[in-house]
Amino acid sequence: MQFKFYIPTKVFFGKDCIKEYKSELKNLGKKAMIVTGKSSGRMSGALADVINVCEEFKIDYMVHDRVENNPSLENVKDGGTVASSFKADFIIGIGGGSPLDAAKAIAVLAVNDINPLELFENVFRNKPLPVITIPTTAGTGSEVTQYSILTRKDIQTKMSFGNEHTFPEIAFLDAGYTESMPYDITVNTAIDTLSHAMEGYLGKRSTTASDLFAEKAIKIFGECVDGLIKNSLNFNDREKLLYASMLGGMTIAHTGTTIIHGIGYSFTYFKGVQHGKANGLTMAEYLRFNYDVSKSKTDNVLILLGIDGIDEFREVMDKLLQNDISLSEEEIRMFAANTMKLKSTANNIKDVTEEDIAVIIKNSLKERM
Ligand code: NAP
Ligand code: ZN
Repeated sequence: MQFKFYIPTKVFFGKDCIKEYKSELKNLGKKAMIVTGKSSGRMSGALADVINVCEEFKIDYMVHDRVENNPSLENVKDGGTVASSFKADFIIGIGGGSPLDAAKAIAVLAVNDINPLELFENVFRNKPLPVITIPTTAGTGSEVTQYSILTRKDIQTKMSFGNEHTFPEIAFLDAGYTESMPYDITVNTAIDTLSHAMEGYLGKRSTTASDLFAEKAIKIFGECVDGLIKNSLNFNDREKLLYASMLGGMTIAHTGTTIIHGIGYSFTYFKGVQHGKANGLTMAEYLRFNYDVSKSKTDNVLILLGIDGIDEFREVMDKLLQNDISLSEEEIRMFAANTMKLKSTANNIKDVTEEDIAVIIKNSLKERM
Protein backbone atom coordinates (compact mmCIF):
# COMPACT_ATOMS: atom_id res chain seq x y z
CA MET A 1 0.00 0.00 0.00
CA GLN A 2 1.59 3.27 -1.11
CA PHE A 3 0.07 6.71 -1.23
CA LYS A 4 0.67 10.40 -0.75
CA PHE A 5 -2.07 12.54 0.75
CA TYR A 6 -2.04 16.32 0.92
CA ILE A 7 -4.95 18.71 1.43
CA PRO A 8 -3.61 21.89 3.06
CA THR A 9 -6.91 23.81 2.94
CA LYS A 10 -8.44 24.64 6.31
CA VAL A 11 -12.12 23.69 6.03
CA PHE A 12 -15.04 25.15 8.00
CA PHE A 13 -18.31 23.38 7.30
CA GLY A 14 -21.79 24.20 8.54
CA LYS A 15 -24.63 26.68 8.54
CA ASP A 16 -23.34 30.21 9.22
CA CYS A 17 -19.73 29.05 9.39
CA ILE A 18 -18.47 32.38 8.04
CA LYS A 19 -20.07 34.27 10.90
CA GLU A 20 -18.86 31.73 13.41
CA TYR A 21 -15.26 31.65 12.20
CA LYS A 22 -15.02 35.21 10.91
CA SER A 23 -11.81 35.86 12.85
CA GLU A 24 -10.03 33.64 10.31
CA LEU A 25 -10.25 36.56 7.88
CA LYS A 26 -8.39 38.89 10.18
CA ASN A 27 -4.96 37.45 9.66
CA LEU A 28 -4.72 37.47 5.89
CA GLY A 29 -4.19 41.17 5.31
CA LYS A 30 -5.89 44.52 5.05
CA LYS A 31 -7.09 44.44 1.46
CA ALA A 32 -9.37 41.77 0.05
CA MET A 33 -10.48 41.31 -3.52
CA ILE A 34 -13.78 39.45 -3.68
CA VAL A 35 -14.02 37.47 -6.90
CA THR A 36 -17.46 36.28 -7.99
CA GLY A 37 -19.84 35.91 -10.93
CA LYS A 38 -22.65 38.12 -12.14
CA SER A 39 -25.23 36.79 -9.69
CA SER A 40 -24.05 33.85 -7.58
CA GLY A 41 -22.46 35.92 -4.80
CA ARG A 42 -25.55 38.04 -4.36
CA MET A 43 -28.22 35.39 -4.89
CA SER A 44 -26.62 32.95 -2.47
CA GLY A 45 -26.24 35.51 0.32
CA ALA A 46 -22.53 34.74 0.65
CA LEU A 47 -21.38 38.10 -0.67
CA ALA A 48 -23.40 39.99 1.94
CA ASP A 49 -22.01 37.81 4.73
CA VAL A 50 -18.43 38.35 3.56
CA ILE A 51 -18.90 42.09 3.20
CA ASN A 52 -20.27 42.28 6.75
CA VAL A 53 -17.17 40.57 8.11
CA CYS A 54 -14.83 42.79 6.06
CA GLU A 55 -16.61 45.88 7.36
CA GLU A 56 -16.52 44.66 10.94
CA PHE A 57 -12.76 44.04 10.74
CA LYS A 58 -12.08 47.16 8.67
CA ILE A 59 -10.72 45.12 5.80
CA ASP A 60 -10.67 47.27 2.68
CA TYR A 61 -12.49 45.21 0.03
CA MET A 62 -13.49 45.43 -3.61
CA VAL A 63 -16.02 43.28 -5.43
CA HIS A 64 -14.92 41.95 -8.80
CA ASP A 65 -18.09 40.36 -10.19
CA ARG A 66 -16.92 39.86 -13.73
CA VAL A 67 -16.05 36.17 -13.75
CA GLU A 68 -17.61 34.43 -16.72
CA ASN A 69 -18.79 30.81 -16.68
CA ASN A 70 -15.90 28.53 -17.69
CA PRO A 71 -13.49 31.47 -17.34
CA SER A 72 -11.11 32.19 -20.18
CA LEU A 73 -7.46 33.21 -19.98
CA GLU A 74 -8.44 36.74 -20.97
CA ASN A 75 -11.04 36.88 -18.18
CA VAL A 76 -8.56 35.88 -15.44
CA LYS A 77 -5.84 38.10 -16.87
CA ASP A 78 -8.24 41.02 -16.49
CA GLY A 79 -8.89 39.97 -12.87
CA GLY A 80 -5.16 39.70 -12.18
CA THR A 81 -4.60 43.25 -13.42
CA VAL A 82 -7.43 44.52 -11.20
CA ALA A 83 -6.00 42.67 -8.18
CA SER A 84 -2.53 44.03 -8.66
CA SER A 85 -3.65 47.63 -9.10
CA PHE A 86 -5.88 47.29 -6.03
CA LYS A 87 -2.84 45.81 -4.22
CA ALA A 88 -4.94 43.01 -2.79
CA ASP A 89 -3.42 41.05 0.10
CA PHE A 90 -5.77 38.13 -0.42
CA ILE A 91 -8.56 36.90 -2.66
CA ILE A 92 -12.00 35.67 -1.63
CA GLY A 93 -13.68 33.53 -4.30
CA ILE A 94 -17.46 33.19 -4.03
CA GLY A 95 -19.52 31.13 -6.44
CA GLY A 96 -19.54 27.94 -8.39
CA GLY A 97 -16.40 26.39 -9.79
CA SER A 98 -15.98 29.22 -12.29
CA PRO A 99 -15.37 32.05 -9.78
CA LEU A 100 -13.40 29.74 -7.46
CA ASP A 101 -11.09 28.66 -10.28
CA ALA A 102 -10.79 32.26 -11.46
CA ALA A 103 -9.87 33.32 -7.91
CA LYS A 104 -6.95 30.86 -7.94
CA ALA A 105 -5.70 32.12 -11.30
CA ILE A 106 -6.10 35.76 -10.24
CA ALA A 107 -4.12 35.02 -7.07
CA VAL A 108 -1.19 33.91 -9.23
CA LEU A 109 -1.49 36.66 -11.84
CA ALA A 110 -1.80 39.41 -9.21
CA VAL A 111 1.80 38.85 -8.17
CA ASN A 112 3.36 37.38 -11.32
CA ASP A 113 3.52 39.52 -14.43
CA ILE A 114 3.18 36.68 -16.89
CA ASN A 115 1.23 35.80 -19.98
CA PRO A 116 -1.70 33.66 -18.73
CA LEU A 117 -0.53 30.83 -21.00
CA GLU A 118 2.45 30.50 -18.65
CA LEU A 119 0.05 29.48 -15.87
CA PHE A 120 0.09 26.00 -17.39
CA GLU A 121 3.84 25.70 -16.75
CA ASN A 122 2.92 25.50 -13.06
CA VAL A 123 6.05 27.28 -11.87
CA PHE A 124 5.51 30.73 -10.42
CA ARG A 125 8.32 33.02 -9.35
CA ASN A 126 6.18 34.62 -6.63
CA LYS A 127 3.90 32.66 -4.34
CA PRO A 128 0.21 33.26 -5.19
CA LEU A 129 -1.86 35.43 -2.86
CA PRO A 130 -3.84 33.46 -0.25
CA VAL A 131 -7.27 32.41 -1.50
CA ILE A 132 -10.44 31.86 0.52
CA THR A 133 -13.12 29.81 -1.24
CA ILE A 134 -16.86 29.90 -0.61
CA PRO A 135 -18.79 27.53 -2.89
CA THR A 136 -22.35 28.36 -3.88
CA THR A 137 -22.81 25.20 -5.97
CA ALA A 138 -22.37 21.64 -4.69
CA GLY A 139 -20.36 19.97 -7.35
CA THR A 140 -16.87 21.00 -8.33
CA GLY A 141 -15.05 20.63 -5.02
CA SER A 142 -12.83 23.45 -6.30
CA GLU A 143 -12.89 24.90 -2.78
CA VAL A 144 -10.39 22.24 -1.71
CA THR A 145 -8.46 21.47 -4.90
CA GLN A 146 -5.30 22.99 -6.34
CA TYR A 147 -6.83 23.10 -9.80
CA SER A 148 -7.97 26.07 -11.80
CA ILE A 149 -9.66 25.06 -15.03
CA LEU A 150 -9.60 27.66 -17.76
CA THR A 151 -10.97 27.91 -21.26
CA ARG A 152 -8.25 27.97 -23.89
CA LYS A 153 -9.46 29.49 -27.11
CA ASP A 154 -6.07 28.81 -28.72
CA ILE A 155 -6.60 25.05 -28.56
CA GLN A 156 -10.40 25.06 -28.37
CA THR A 157 -10.75 23.23 -25.08
CA LYS A 158 -10.38 23.66 -21.33
CA MET A 159 -7.26 22.92 -19.38
CA SER A 160 -6.24 22.95 -15.73
CA PHE A 161 -3.21 24.25 -13.94
CA GLY A 162 -2.31 24.02 -10.27
CA ASN A 163 0.45 23.02 -7.90
CA GLU A 164 0.88 22.70 -4.17
CA HIS A 165 0.81 26.51 -3.81
CA THR A 166 -2.56 26.96 -5.50
CA PHE A 167 -4.66 25.12 -2.92
CA PRO A 168 -7.01 27.55 -1.20
CA GLU A 169 -5.92 28.64 2.25
CA ILE A 170 -9.40 28.43 3.79
CA ALA A 171 -12.75 27.07 2.58
CA PHE A 172 -16.09 28.00 4.12
CA LEU A 173 -18.82 25.51 3.20
CA ASP A 174 -22.35 26.59 4.08
CA ALA A 175 -25.10 24.66 2.30
CA GLY A 176 -27.41 27.64 2.82
CA TYR A 177 -25.54 29.29 -0.06
CA THR A 178 -26.51 26.49 -2.42
CA GLU A 179 -30.26 26.78 -1.82
CA SER A 180 -30.72 29.51 -4.44
CA MET A 181 -29.39 27.31 -7.26
CA PRO A 182 -31.97 26.64 -9.97
CA TYR A 183 -32.96 23.00 -10.47
CA ASP A 184 -30.80 22.33 -13.53
CA ILE A 185 -27.66 23.71 -11.89
CA THR A 186 -28.38 21.71 -8.72
CA VAL A 187 -28.59 18.51 -10.77
CA ASN A 188 -25.69 19.24 -13.09
CA THR A 189 -23.33 20.15 -10.28
CA ALA A 190 -24.32 17.07 -8.25
CA ILE A 191 -23.49 14.97 -11.31
CA ASP A 192 -20.09 16.67 -11.46
CA THR A 193 -19.45 15.44 -7.92
CA LEU A 194 -20.36 11.90 -8.91
CA SER A 195 -18.06 12.22 -11.89
CA HIS A 196 -15.12 13.28 -9.72
CA ALA A 197 -15.72 10.46 -7.28
CA MET A 198 -16.21 7.82 -9.98
CA GLU A 199 -13.33 8.90 -12.19
CA GLY A 200 -11.05 9.16 -9.18
CA TYR A 201 -12.16 5.77 -7.85
CA LEU A 202 -11.95 3.95 -11.17
CA GLY A 203 -8.92 5.80 -12.56
CA LYS A 204 -5.29 4.69 -12.67
CA ARG A 205 -4.19 7.04 -9.91
CA SER A 206 -6.70 5.93 -7.26
CA THR A 207 -5.22 5.05 -3.86
CA THR A 208 -6.55 3.51 -0.68
CA ALA A 209 -6.76 7.01 0.78
CA SER A 210 -8.50 8.65 -2.18
CA ASP A 211 -10.97 5.74 -2.37
CA LEU A 212 -12.15 6.51 1.14
CA PHE A 213 -13.38 9.92 -0.02
CA ALA A 214 -14.67 8.70 -3.36
CA GLU A 215 -16.75 5.85 -1.90
CA LYS A 216 -18.44 8.14 0.58
CA ALA A 217 -19.22 10.72 -2.10
CA ILE A 218 -20.73 8.04 -4.37
CA LYS A 219 -22.83 6.69 -1.51
CA ILE A 220 -24.18 10.16 -0.71
CA PHE A 221 -25.09 10.72 -4.37
CA GLY A 222 -27.03 7.46 -4.24
CA GLU A 223 -28.89 8.64 -1.14
CA CYS A 224 -29.82 11.93 -2.82
CA VAL A 225 -30.62 10.69 -6.32
CA ASP A 226 -34.39 10.37 -5.76
CA GLY A 227 -34.56 13.88 -4.31
CA LEU A 228 -32.59 15.13 -7.31
CA ILE A 229 -34.94 13.46 -9.79
CA LYS A 230 -38.06 14.62 -7.94
CA ASN A 231 -36.67 18.08 -7.21
CA SER A 232 -37.47 17.58 -3.54
CA LEU A 233 -34.13 18.24 -1.82
CA ASN A 234 -34.30 19.60 1.70
CA PHE A 235 -31.56 21.42 3.59
CA ASN A 236 -30.23 18.17 4.97
CA ASP A 237 -29.80 16.80 1.43
CA ARG A 238 -28.11 20.02 0.33
CA GLU A 239 -25.63 19.68 3.18
CA LYS A 240 -24.93 16.09 2.18
CA LEU A 241 -24.36 17.09 -1.44
CA LEU A 242 -22.03 19.91 -0.42
CA TYR A 243 -20.12 17.47 1.77
CA ALA A 244 -19.94 14.97 -1.11
CA SER A 245 -18.70 17.72 -3.39
CA MET A 246 -15.87 18.47 -0.99
CA LEU A 247 -15.03 14.76 -0.80
CA GLY A 248 -15.03 14.57 -4.59
CA GLY A 249 -12.63 17.51 -4.68
CA MET A 250 -10.35 15.82 -2.16
CA THR A 251 -10.43 12.73 -4.37
CA ILE A 252 -9.43 14.42 -7.62
CA ALA A 253 -6.84 16.57 -5.88
CA HIS A 254 -4.95 13.25 -5.69
CA THR A 255 -6.18 11.26 -8.66
CA GLY A 256 -7.04 13.80 -11.34
CA THR A 257 -9.95 13.13 -13.67
CA THR A 258 -10.13 10.94 -16.78
CA ILE A 259 -11.94 10.75 -20.11
CA ILE A 260 -15.38 11.78 -18.85
CA HIS A 261 -14.02 15.23 -18.06
CA GLY A 262 -11.85 15.23 -21.17
CA ILE A 263 -14.82 14.60 -23.47
CA GLY A 264 -16.98 16.95 -21.40
CA TYR A 265 -14.65 19.88 -22.10
CA SER A 266 -15.50 19.62 -25.81
CA PHE A 267 -19.25 19.51 -25.06
CA THR A 268 -18.80 22.70 -23.06
CA TYR A 269 -16.46 24.45 -25.49
CA PHE A 270 -18.32 23.70 -28.70
CA LYS A 271 -21.92 23.23 -27.53
CA GLY A 272 -22.09 25.41 -24.42
CA VAL A 273 -23.16 22.47 -22.25
CA GLN A 274 -22.84 23.15 -18.51
CA HIS A 275 -19.85 21.37 -16.96
CA GLY A 276 -21.68 18.74 -14.87
CA LYS A 277 -24.11 17.85 -17.62
CA ALA A 278 -21.22 17.61 -20.09
CA ASN A 279 -19.77 14.91 -17.84
CA GLY A 280 -23.08 13.17 -17.18
CA LEU A 281 -23.77 12.60 -20.87
CA THR A 282 -21.03 9.98 -21.28
CA MET A 283 -20.89 8.51 -17.78
CA ALA A 284 -22.86 5.31 -18.42
CA GLU A 285 -20.95 4.46 -21.59
CA TYR A 286 -17.67 5.22 -19.78
CA LEU A 287 -18.63 2.59 -17.19
CA ARG A 288 -19.51 0.12 -19.93
CA PHE A 289 -16.25 0.74 -21.80
CA ASN A 290 -14.06 0.24 -18.74
CA TYR A 291 -16.05 -2.62 -17.21
CA ASP A 292 -13.83 -5.50 -18.31
CA VAL A 293 -10.77 -4.04 -16.56
CA SER A 294 -12.45 -2.66 -13.45
CA LYS A 295 -15.28 -5.09 -12.85
CA SER A 296 -15.21 -5.31 -9.08
CA LYS A 297 -14.77 -1.59 -8.49
CA THR A 298 -17.51 -0.73 -10.99
CA ASP A 299 -19.82 -3.23 -9.29
CA ASN A 300 -19.01 -1.52 -6.03
CA VAL A 301 -19.90 1.90 -7.47
CA LEU A 302 -23.29 0.51 -8.51
CA ILE A 303 -23.84 -1.08 -5.08
CA LEU A 304 -22.95 2.20 -3.35
CA LEU A 305 -25.41 4.01 -5.60
CA GLY A 306 -28.10 1.39 -5.01
CA ILE A 307 -28.41 0.88 -8.77
CA ASP A 308 -28.74 -2.51 -10.43
CA GLY A 309 -26.36 -2.53 -13.38
CA ILE A 310 -25.08 -0.14 -16.03
CA ASP A 311 -28.35 -0.14 -18.02
CA GLU A 312 -30.24 1.06 -14.96
CA PHE A 313 -27.49 3.62 -14.33
CA ARG A 314 -28.08 4.98 -17.81
CA GLU A 315 -31.83 5.19 -17.17
CA VAL A 316 -31.18 7.17 -13.99
CA MET A 317 -28.86 9.56 -15.83
CA ASP A 318 -31.46 10.00 -18.57
CA LYS A 319 -34.00 10.97 -15.90
CA LEU A 320 -31.60 13.49 -14.41
CA LEU A 321 -30.37 15.01 -17.64
CA GLN A 322 -31.88 15.95 -20.91
CA ASN A 323 -29.84 13.94 -23.35
CA ASP A 324 -30.62 16.48 -26.05
CA ILE A 325 -27.31 17.03 -27.81
CA SER A 326 -26.67 15.76 -31.29
CA LEU A 327 -23.34 15.79 -33.05
CA SER A 328 -22.21 15.26 -36.63
CA GLU A 329 -19.67 12.53 -37.43
CA GLU A 330 -17.10 15.26 -37.93
CA GLU A 331 -17.82 16.79 -34.51
CA ILE A 332 -17.52 13.39 -32.85
CA ARG A 333 -14.12 12.87 -34.46
CA MET A 334 -12.98 16.32 -33.38
CA PHE A 335 -14.18 15.79 -29.77
CA ALA A 336 -12.32 12.47 -29.70
CA ALA A 337 -9.14 14.00 -31.12
CA ASN A 338 -9.27 16.85 -28.58
CA THR A 339 -9.76 14.40 -25.71
CA MET A 340 -6.72 12.41 -26.80
CA LYS A 341 -4.57 15.54 -26.43
CA LEU A 342 -5.36 15.95 -22.73
CA LYS A 343 -3.01 14.60 -20.06
CA SER A 344 -5.96 13.31 -18.03
CA THR A 345 -6.81 10.79 -20.75
CA ALA A 346 -3.77 8.77 -19.67
CA ASN A 347 -5.36 8.37 -16.20
CA ASN A 348 -8.14 6.21 -17.57
CA ILE A 349 -7.89 2.69 -16.21
CA LYS A 350 -8.10 1.16 -19.67
CA ASP A 351 -5.91 2.46 -22.47
CA VAL A 352 -8.04 4.34 -24.96
CA THR A 353 -7.71 5.16 -28.63
CA GLU A 354 -9.33 8.01 -30.49
CA GLU A 355 -11.70 5.47 -32.02
CA ASP A 356 -12.70 4.20 -28.54
CA ILE A 357 -13.58 7.74 -27.48
CA ALA A 358 -15.59 8.30 -30.64
CA VAL A 359 -17.55 5.11 -29.92
CA ILE A 360 -18.20 6.17 -26.31
CA ILE A 361 -19.56 9.51 -27.55
CA LYS A 362 -21.68 7.88 -30.26
CA ASN A 363 -23.16 5.33 -27.88
CA SER A 364 -23.88 8.06 -25.34
CA LEU A 365 -25.94 10.00 -27.85
CA LYS A 366 -27.13 7.17 -30.02
CA GLU A 367 -30.84 7.38 -29.23
CA ARG A 368 -30.82 10.89 -30.65
CA MET A 369 -28.72 10.26 -33.75
P1 NAP B 1 -20.45 27.77 -12.55
O1 NAP B 1 -19.98 27.91 -13.97
O2 NAP B 1 -19.57 28.31 -11.51
O3 NAP B 1 -21.89 28.41 -12.40
C1 NAP B 1 -22.95 28.02 -13.25
C2 NAP B 1 -24.11 29.00 -13.09
O4 NAP B 1 -24.70 28.84 -11.81
C3 NAP B 1 -23.68 30.45 -13.19
O5 NAP B 1 -24.62 31.15 -13.96
C4 NAP B 1 -23.71 30.91 -11.76
O6 NAP B 1 -23.91 32.29 -11.60
C5 NAP B 1 -24.86 30.12 -11.20
N1 NAP B 1 -24.83 29.94 -9.75
C6 NAP B 1 -23.82 29.48 -8.99
N2 NAP B 1 -24.21 29.37 -7.70
C7 NAP B 1 -25.49 29.82 -7.64
C8 NAP B 1 -26.42 29.96 -6.59
N3 NAP B 1 -26.15 29.59 -5.32
N4 NAP B 1 -27.64 30.49 -6.87
C9 NAP B 1 -27.96 30.83 -8.16
N5 NAP B 1 -27.11 30.70 -9.20
C10 NAP B 1 -25.89 30.19 -8.94
O7 NAP B 1 -20.80 26.22 -12.31
P2 NAP B 1 -20.04 25.02 -11.59
O8 NAP B 1 -20.56 23.80 -12.19
O9 NAP B 1 -20.05 25.18 -10.12
O10 NAP B 1 -18.52 25.21 -12.04
C11 NAP B 1 -18.09 24.80 -13.30
C12 NAP B 1 -16.64 25.24 -13.49
O11 NAP B 1 -15.83 24.62 -12.48
C13 NAP B 1 -16.11 24.77 -14.83
O12 NAP B 1 -15.29 25.75 -15.40
C14 NAP B 1 -15.32 23.53 -14.46
O13 NAP B 1 -14.31 23.23 -15.40
C15 NAP B 1 -14.76 23.93 -13.11
N6 NAP B 1 -14.35 22.80 -12.25
C16 NAP B 1 -13.29 22.97 -11.45
C17 NAP B 1 -12.84 21.95 -10.64
C18 NAP B 1 -11.64 22.15 -9.78
O14 NAP B 1 -11.16 21.22 -9.14
N7 NAP B 1 -11.10 23.32 -9.72
C19 NAP B 1 -13.50 20.73 -10.62
C20 NAP B 1 -14.61 20.59 -11.45
C21 NAP B 1 -15.04 21.63 -12.25
P3 NAP B 1 -22.74 33.39 -11.90
O15 NAP B 1 -22.78 33.62 -13.38
O16 NAP B 1 -23.09 34.53 -11.09
O17 NAP B 1 -21.42 32.79 -11.51
ZN1 ZN C 1 -15.76 18.49 -12.83
